[in-house]
Amino acid sequence: MNKTQKFETAGRIETAFIHGGIYGDEQTGAVNTPIYQTSTYSQKELGKHKGWEYSRTGNPTRASLEALIAQLENGTAGFAFASGMAATTAALSLFKSGDRIVISSNVYGGTFRVLDKVFKNFGIDYAIADTTDLTALEQALTPDVKAILIESPANPLLTVTDIAAVAGIAKQKGILLIVDNTFMTPYLQRPLELGADIVLHSATKYLGGHSDLIAGLIVVKSEELAQRIHFIQNATGGILQPFDSFLLIRSIKTLGVRMDRHVENAEKIALILKEHKAVKVVYYPGLADAQGYEVNQKQAKNGGAMISFELADGYDYRRFFTGLKLIALAESLGGVESLACHPASMTHASIPKEIREQVGITDGLIRISVGIENIQDLTADLTGAIEEARM
Ligand SMILES: *Cc1c(COP(=O)(O)O)cnc(C)c1O
Repeated sequence: MNKTQKFETAGRIETAFIHGGIYGDEQTGAVNTPIYQTSTYSQKELGKHKGWEYSRTGNPTRASLEALIAQLENGTAGFAFASGMAATTAALSLFKSGDRIVISSNVYGGTFRVLDKVFKNFGIDYAIADTTDLTALEQALTPDVKAILIESPANPLLTVTDIAAVAGIAKQKGILLIVDNTFMTPYLQRPLELGADIVLHSATKYLGGHSDLIAGLIVVKSEELAQRIHFIQNATGGILQPFDSFLLIRSIKTLGVRMDRHVENAEKIALILKEHKAVKVVYYPGLADAQGYEVNQKQAKNGGAMISFELADGYDYRRFFTGLKLIALAESLGGVESLACHPASMTHASIPKEIREQVGITDGLIRISVGIENIQDLTADLTGAIEEARM
């Protein structure tokens, strides 16, 4: 197998999920990339090798995944890491003391935490801006800002940021736009095509899709960033292992069919919750009256499969969680099974309560990662748990 070998697939992404990147194995004809479980490679003579020297630097199974995600996101190069946070950390390692990163007001809690508790110690600061409001964003762009890091839809209120508009602002200021595309996947949204410079993924979520692995990915648009991220990946070493790379390639083959079912279920559940008299508010970018609905329609295929909501007064969210029978109370998202989570005490607990409340992550907020189970079983579980929550 050759590092740069790419199979020209039909332009359609559903086909690329299966045949994209480095497909199969030339030597044997195997239709799947073998798991190259090796740390090192023998060299013929000094300075003469087959393109592989040491598996932190490069491994054929990981390279196959990296070529695949680069193709799916329409970038020049992809990089696979041991977790989404390892990928985020590698991207943030592009910056130096004195630089500042602007983040959207409801980014993933761990992204906030690594900036606040790790990078700040090295002199890389951050500022929080409501990136759904372009004027507010521009005001946050002090001369030391070197990058904007956004999620759209953002976690957990599913707020939508206009990626192309923010990319235009970033370009004009000569700074980088980094988009965490975990919630959408390249099937539903491709930020590099909208002008972003770097895409991040927690591949633990929809790309992995079965809640059985932890992985992260980066895709970059420019050759220059490809070289810099490869240097950081090799220098800091947070790489994805060959077996997990194989699992992720395997998972991505079914991404299209899984996402179609996730979204079909989510659209139905969002409508049921919206009509429910015991539900105060529903956050789902696929609802026509949602914040950013038009922008999301413009930049993404649909509203995805994450829904957040609050119960009406007189209903206790704690009892809702204990009332669920099928849907597990758990961190994470994007797996085939539906999960419910309490952002204030789980995914966003690392954000101070004052900041949480300012941005709307109330104690009563419930987040659902809608799985691909039978829709009637899911709605019965949700409506049953809402009934249980009545005080
Ligand atoms: C889970 C998540 C992360 C972190 O990824 P890990 O794989 O858990 O390290 C980053 N961003 C978003 C949006 C996430 O949901």
